[in-house]
Amino acid sequence: MRLIVDFASEEISFDRVEILRSQGVPHEAEVSENFERIYEGATELFHDLAELKGIMSGIEVSHFEEVFRGEGLNEKENPVEDVYRKSSSLALFAVTLGPVLSEKVTELFDNGDYADGYMLDSVSSYAANKLAELAAQHMQLELAVVEPSTSQRVLCYSPGYCGWHISGQKKLFEALHPEEIGITLNESCLMSPIKSVSGVLISGPAEIHKFVNSYPFCNTCTARSCIKRMRNLTIMNAPEDKYGTT
Ligand code: SF4
Repeated sequence: MRLIVDFASEEISFDRVEILRSQGVPHEAEVSENFERIYEGATELFHDLAELKGIMSGIEVSHFEEVFRGEGLNEKENPVEDVYRKSSSLALFAVTLGPVLSEKVTELFDNGDYADGYMLDSVSSYAANKLAELAAQHMQLELAVVEPSTSQRVLCYSPGYCGWHISGQKKLFEALHPEEIGITLNESCLMSPIKSVSGVLISGPAEIHKFVNSYPFCNTCTARSCIKRMRNLTIMNAPEDKYGTT
C-alpha cells in the first residue's frame, strides 16, 4: 500500500478550548473581543492557505525494525517499540499543511504582527496534529474495506516523542520519500514545511496501544498526550482506567 491523499481543510475541526489552553489560557478565562477577533482571523487564514497532503506507505515489521533503530539513539525502553511489536500492520506516514501557511506565520512575525502570528502558529500546530490523526483514520478505513468486521485501531507515533529519537527521521525519510508531497528534512532533522508530522501508523487491537506511562523519560514530559489517546481508546472500548491515565 502506498497512498498520496489530498485532505480538505474542512476535515479539520478546531477545538478552541484546547488551542487556547496550548497558549496557557485556562478554559474558564474571559477573553477580550480583540482576542476573539485574532482567533477567528487565524482559523479563516488556515482555511484560505492550508494545502493538506499526506503520504502513507505500508511496511513490514522486519523492515520497520531497521527504520525504527535509526541512528541507534532511541531510549532503551520505550512505548513505541512495545506497541509496534504487537501490531497487525504498520505504515510509515507524513502529512503537511503545505508551505504557504508556514510562510504566512513567518511573514506575520517579520512584520511585527506578533499576536496574529502566534495565534496562526498555534492554530496550525493543532491542525497538523489533527491531520496526523486523519491519516490514522484513513488507514483504519482502508483496513475496514479489506475486512469490514475489523476492530483494529490505528494510532500514529512520531520520532522526537516517547523515546523514539528525533534522528529517526533520517531512516524514516529514506524509506518513505515524503519529498513526493513536498516535505524535506534538514541536517537537524527538522521538516520543511515546518507544520508537518511524520511517523508510523500502528494498527492492532485497542489493547496494544495502552501502556503504563512510567518510562524514565516520562518524568520530564509536559505534553503527556498518551493520556488523552489512551482515554479515547478506553471510552470506545471498555470504561475502565487501569493504565495510569489519570
Ligand atoms: S508521558 Fe509523555 S513521554 Fe511518556 S509515554 Fe506519555 S506522551 Fe510519551
